[in-house]
Amino acid sequence: MSAATALMPIPGLIDPVPVRRGPDPRADGRTELVGLSKDAIRAALEAEGFEPRQAKLRSKQLWHWIYNRGVSDFSAMSDIAKAQQPRLAERFAISRPTVVEAQVSSDGTRKWLLRTHDGNDFEMVFIPDSDRGTLCVSSQVGCTLNCTFCHTGTMRLVRNLEPSEIVGQVMLARDALGEWPNPGEESASNYQSEGRLLTNIVMMGMGEPLYNFDNVRDALKIVMDGDGLGLSKRRITLSTSGVVPMMERAGDEIGVNLAVSLHSVRKEIRDEIVPLNRKYGIEQLLEACAAYPGANNARRITFEYVMLKDKNDSDADARELVRLIRKYKLPAKVNLIPFNPWPGAPYECSSGERIRAFSTIIFEAGISAPVRTPRGRDIDAACGQLKTASERKRKSA
Ligand code: SAH
Ligand code: SF4
Repeated sequence: MSAATALMPIPGLIDPVPVRRGPDPRADGRTELVGLSKDAIRAALEAEGFEPRQAKLRSKQLWHWIYNRGVSDFSAMSDIAKAQQPRLAERFAISRPTVVEAQVSSDGTRKWLLRTHDGNDFEMVFIPDSDRGTLCVSSQVGCTLNCTFCHTGTMRLVRNLEPSEIVGQVMLARDALGEWPNPGEESASNYQSEGRLLTNIVMMGMGEPLYNFDNVRDALKIVMDGDGLGLSKRRITLSTSGVVPMMERAGDEIGVNLAVSLHSVRKEIRDEIVPLNRKYGIEQLLEACAAYPGANNARRITFEYVMLKDKNDSDADARELVRLIRKYKLPAKVNLIPFNPWPGAPYECSSGERIRAFSTIIFEAGISAPVRTPRGRDIDAACGQLKTASERKRKSA
């Protein structure tokens, strides 16, 4: 077992769960360039025997081709000497996750089943709206946290996704949507949202992003880099089920918008539906939200609240939610998510009438509480419906 594939503990519900630290090395022995920082690319070139000055120049050129032009073929890199191109191609790779299946919902939502180079499957979703397009990115294959209403939570965690696999999702979406700039038009490298299909990113696919902190941070740094993919941090949202000890670092080191999967304001209920609550309780979580760096009235924290019939949807629950938001003086908005069913799920969605009544109580307290329209349910692409056959396959192997 190499250092990369040695077991590492990822915090679980109660005891850490040992999972593989990283992927198997690529079968072809090449080094993946996607997901490496500019400095790391330079170092990789030097390690392959490039002179320091050459390595510096080439790393800048590679960065441009990879992130500004979406090019993955070294022979298309016209400012790199023809004689050097084969040498690069032999030692390095610029890749995307493999597409196993791509589906389109009747409402335009798209879902991709993707595969890592070492054979693990995960999903990515694109949700087009009239004024924006949101890519829902996965951070892990599976999840350790077992929230009872979430289909991903019924999968075990297979492994963390690498920065290359997280950035790779965004690059693949740009490929699929045809959003790489044409030659000559890429100079203002900041990716303008105007006229784009892909304008926003949410870390709300499979997995708990704060249990894969380093990789998520390194990936989002590239996504936000003005010379890289150039998406503004204001258009990126990271959702956590409440990993309290990592929240401050997320604000300091990543600085994107925060969403918190609250789902209940009562200890007994949240202990049941978001079992991580047994480790980090509601009060502790809300204190961490109050301290989240960068949160203010212009950049509110989103509280996600899945509407489960007769579980968490009473008027009293709504009033308690308002009380807590006021008590901790949180710049908050509440996102009410109708429960999306999956085969064998132990819950039902609250009625439309109940959801409206719940929303009204919060709204009348002066807090925005929109009800999210389910998207892509017909292709199992809606929140909480992502699950792949990885685990079954792994077991039979
Ligand atoms: N692990 C992170 C991010 C991924 S989940 C987290 O839990 O925050 C994205 C959102 O979908 C979370 O708020 C999650 O609780 C919610 N969700 C999970 N299952 C759902 C379901 N069946 N119906 C509606 N929302 C669900
Ligand atoms: Fe994991 Fe989030 Fe699903 Fe909970 S809701 S099981 S944390 S992916």
